[in-house]
Amino acid sequence: MALRTIREMGDEVLTKKCREIKEVTPRIKELIGDMLETMYEANGVGLAAPQVGILKRLVVIDIGEGPIVLINPVILETDGSQTGEEGCLSLPGKSGVVTRPNYVKVRAFDENMQEFEAEGTELLARAFCHEIDHLDGHMYVEKVEGELHDVVYEEDEEE
Ligand code: ZN
Repeated sequence: MALRTIREMGDEVLTKKCREIKEVTPRIKELIGDMLETMYEANGVGLAAPQVGILKRLVVIDIGEGPIVLINPVILETDGSQTGEEGCLSLPGKSGVVTRPNYVKVRAFDENMQEFEAEGTELLARAFCHEIDHLDGHMYVEKVEGELHDVVYEEDEEE
């Protein structure tokens, strides 16, 4: 596995619509591993393939409960709403307030192209929406209420 370069806002690849994955080839398997490694290294909770320059419908998420790999994800159902801070690895050092559904149900395929459904509330619901938006070329900044602001990093924090 290897770290991939995270593309930042302004890069055209982040504005494009991604193509469906038809088959999990060894290259896709490698991409999934690399995306997970890249996401963990950057302390992110989610990463979409276009963020590493690949226009395929693939997302990885880990909100601290283990990795979730979503191939060709679609949102089936949403409910409620939540308003809170959101950030993106493609816009480091910034965050903004975004309103999202508080419950989201998705259907996707796993690494073995087995179809599954997953449900999330709060942070996971937010991550599903944020990452799936990336697959259609959308960034959270389009939905920010008010201004983006700077994130204060706590660099010396002990793990
Ligand atoms: Zn993002």
